[in-house]
Amino acid sequence: MSDYKHFETQAIRSQSEKSPFREHSTPIYMTSSFTFEDAEQARALFADEQEGNIYTRFSNPNNNEFINKLCLLEGTEDGISTASGMAAMFCSMAALLQSGDHVLASRSVFGSTHQIFTQIFPKWGITHSYADINNPDEWEAKINKNTKMIFAETPSNPALDIIDLEWLGKLAKKHNLILNIDNCFATPYLQQPAKFGANLVTHSATKFMDGQGRTMGGAIVGDADLIKEIRFFARHSGPAMSPFNGWILSKSLETLAIRMDRHCENALKIAEYLEGHKELELVKYPFLKSHPKHELAKKQMKLGGGLVTFEVKGGIDRGRKFLNNLKMLSLTANLGDSRTIATHPASTTHSKLTDEERANVGITPGLVRISAGLENVNDIIEDIENALTASAQ
Ligand SMILES: *Cc1c(COP(=O)(O)O)cnc(C)c1O
Repeated sequence: MSDYKHFETQAIRSQSEKSPFREHSTPIYMTSSFTFEDAEQARALFADEQEGNIYTRFSNPNNNEFINKLCLLEGTEDGISTASGMAAMFCSMAALLQSGDHVLASRSVFGSTHQIFTQIFPKWGITHSYADINNPDEWEAKINKNTKMIFAETPSNPALDIIDLEWLGKLAKKHNLILNIDNCFATPYLQQPAKFGANLVTHSATKFMDGQGRTMGGAIVGDADLIKEIRFFARHSGPAMSPFNGWILSKSLETLAIRMDRHCENALKIAEYLEGHKELELVKYPFLKSHPKHELAKKQMKLGGGLVTFEVKGGIDRGRKFLNNLKMLSLTANLGDSRTIATHPASTTHSKLTDEERANVGITPGLVRISAGLENVNDIIEDIENALTASAQ
């Protein structure tokens, strides 16, 4: 699909074939099905003897362009797009696991992924164990004869813990397990887990890939034999991406590199400004020297990512007061947007967890998560500074 070797050029120049209208930008193919030239072509397409689109639940030019491009950027053989990130997480596991199987997962996983492990999979006899991202020794001990997959997220949401992908790749290989990495926070621009042996790389495209808070989307890319099984599962269970969203996401990938550069630059400046601030207990950012896995982050990530977390002094009430005093930053349950977003996990996204469960995944009462947007960084910092001052009173 692309003869170019550099990320930015691949992201911009890999396009689907032009239509007879010779358009420059790929059109939106809003069609539920595709016509057959004759009965023989219909037969051949259904028999997989000929490649081509049949029905949008199976494939569509916009979704194909998006996923083929993502495969190039992640360095993977094949992939499928899905309606949301959670459809990707679910299908990447449900398609390959069966009753009796066990998944070893990092404890710091996205909230809905946690619900799949704890509320949905048990109904089908699929079990899991959680291992601590900061304690590599306990991982191998938790692998048993039924373990089939390792699932992890790095950097993790919202604690920004980093797991060693090279080490994890070797562990999965040693035990012949499928390694499935949720690469949502890093995007392929910052980190390509397949290089370290991940067999599947899963994404919420809703976040940095869209980058402007418009669409839902997800993707699973990875080894061709696994994608074949997942494709079968998805085609017949139906979590297909809308072609309109596929079009948006493919266009958005054209600017992923330039946007990520700015997200990361802004995040680093915010983190550097806030570190040591008298109203804060702690500032966490993978590319700050004070991050416990700073060296590892530098080794496996190109830049530190778009998320920064900090702990305001004064716990849960101060955290809420801080949010209420922000003027520009958005209070919303998304991340990876052009607009900077502030979230207080203890009173919102993770409020249903017990104090102990929150502590286990690094969510302290005053923890605030900032998704650095693309505004002028001085305006972002000024808003945070003003809200810190106002909430101290
Ligand atoms: C948002 C998110 C998801 C879920 O994606 P949706 O597109 O919201 O379904 C999964 N993993 C991580 C790390 C996320 O941030």
